[in-house]
Amino acid sequence: MPELPEVEMARRYLEDNIVGHRVIDVEVKDVGVLSGIEPSQLRERIVGRTFEKAMRHGKQLFVMMDDGNSLTIHLGMTGELSIVQGDDDRPYTRALFRLEGGSSLDYIDQRKFGTIGICGPIDSFLEVRSLGPDALEIPKDEFITRIRAHRRAIKAVLLDQSVLAGIGNLYADEVLFGSRIHPMSRADELTPGQLGSLHRLVGEVLRKSIEIGSDFSSLPAGYLLRSRRAGSECPRGNGILTSMKVNGRTTILCLKCQPER
Ligand SMILES: [Zn+2]
Repeated sequence: MPELPEVEMARRYLEDNIVGHRVIDVEVKDVGVLSGIEPSQLRERIVGRTFEKAMRHGKQLFVMMDDGNSLTIHLGMTGELSIVQGDDDRPYTRALFRLEGGSSLDYIDQRKFGTIGICGPIDSFLEVRSLGPDALEIPKDEFITRIRAHRRAIKAVLLDQSVLAGIGNLYADEVLFGSRIHPMSRADELTPGQLGSLHRLVGEVLRKSIEIGSDFSSLPAGYLLRSRRAGSECPRGNGILTSMKVNGRTTILCLKCQPER
């Protein structure tokens, strides 16, 4: 499932491949991927426009067009973006944006949890969806204030996109392991030291994952994501990893490194 690092990689891919290109046609093969817009409206608002800039907030992508509006793309669980030449569409293509010059942007999504739409000002889009600040951009003081405002389990707070946008299940486990915090610890009871460590690790882990193209086997030794499985040895060589459910999500932790207080 794409999390912030994978979505950032998709943003860079769009920046390199479609920015500067004009859309000459759009073909919606599955209306179910459209959010708040009919196929005819999408066509009307995008054909003839040129893509100017690819942006990301949390797990949400925006491609700004030359009229100031943006194409919005959320990859959901299995969404993928691919530049293809000519009419080369694939089994799970849901929408195809034909670009001047002969290539097309293909939106592929097997399980169809992703969405495509058009928005005006990005700030209003984020506000309507109650998305918190981007996990890579949030300053330390704001991070601490937002996390501390909740009495829930810290893992649930990290996953709450209205607190912080972009952290999913895998990265939440990684930053809690790195900070030696039990996932059920109450967010408002964490010490300033623990909160500072969490903020540092959120930035560090996400940047590292982007740098290595989300290939977890290339992560440095000591990262949980290299072997995130119950029964595996703790990456610090200190105990065996176990699993539990937090807010219905499978959570992997080391009880020796992350003791419950
Ligand atoms: Zn351990």
